[in-house]
Amino acid sequence: MTTENTAPAWINDPEARLAHKNAFDGALVMGTARFNQETGRLLTKSRPFLWAIDRETGLIRSDLVRARRCPVCDEPPAQGLFVKDGFRHVRCHKCGLIYVSLILREDVIDQYWREEMAWVGVLNSTPQQELDRLKYQYGLDLVSGRLTGRRVLDIGSGPGGFVRLAEEQGWQATALELNQESSKKLAAEGYQVIVKHLEVTDLPSESYDLICLWEVLEHLPAPRMMLAEARRLLAPGGLFLILVPNVNSLVTRLLHEKSNTFGGHSHLNHFGPESLADLIGRAGLKVVEMETVITELGTINNYLSFEDPYKGTAGPVIPTLTPQLIHENMWGSRLLALAERG
Ligand SMILES: [Zn+2]
Repeated sequence: MTTENTAPAWINDPEARLAHKNAFDGALVMGTARFNQETGRLLTKSRPFLWAIDRETGLIRSDLVRARRCPVCDEPPAQGLFVKDGFRHVRCHKCGLIYVSLILREDVIDQYWREEMAWVGVLNSTPQQELDRLKYQYGLDLVSGRLTGRRVLDIGSGPGGFVRLAEEQGWQATALELNQESSKKLAAEGYQVIVKHLEVTDLPSESYDLICLWEVLEHLPAPRMMLAEARRLLAPGGLFLILVPNVNSLVTRLLHEKSNTFGGHSHLNHFGPESLADLIGRAGLKVVEMETVITELGTINNYLSFEDPYKGTAGPVIPTLTPQLIHENMWGSRLLALAERG
């Protein structure tokens, strides 16, 4: 069955579009300290592999890690940037990607995600669910006017906020999720859920009109291979919707390794607009549009005021630094991209 879909008018009205974007910018809506507190972010054990650091080297124990080449362009790792919590962050001298090498072995990462509960708790918090619903709605509105079919695959669906919203709005949604707690809950609620790595699912080619990767690519040891496999599943005329942290965001350029985005057990790849487009192209896809969302303006104000970036309550420091200016310059903390088959 196909449905005629139309895009809402706000998509082509810059002011209205910014208002829709700001509505799911949690720290902007609630204030940074309250947002981090009430979503449980401050309670999250964000450094779960400190026990695995070798005291002599300051790095994660060698039996738990493996080296890898640049996951975008395959160059060997070159320029070290910094070490955080035992993980070395490097910058590819060829394509510019910032990434972690050495990374945890795949079986260690798999076990971590299967059993992870702290981040699942953040995603299940009421304020986060309300904000995510607006974010997912924004994504569905972006693609709705461009697609006729309504079959969607949500890779890394977490507790399932996106698939719930999509099904409510007439999409036929499939979730792919490795976390035990989240996948069990979704299956119990009657959603179609696959508990496997995409590469071993054997799904039929061209079976989805929309494939979503909401904050997934940054976690993958081999994002290009996964994206190329996902491309096979995309129907002609279909779209990818991709959200990743933006390493070229103003907040990350200011905070460097102090930024919460750098957690080497979990965030293995740090894309900017160019390296994300590069990855998408190398997977046989083409960027349709790319923008930034979520400012972390409060985090920036706190840092510029010598307060704790995530717990402080500083007001505006630079009056002309607005969400509009941040997003116009692609300085927001997340990159949101639509891509099609190249
Ligand atoms: Zn590279």
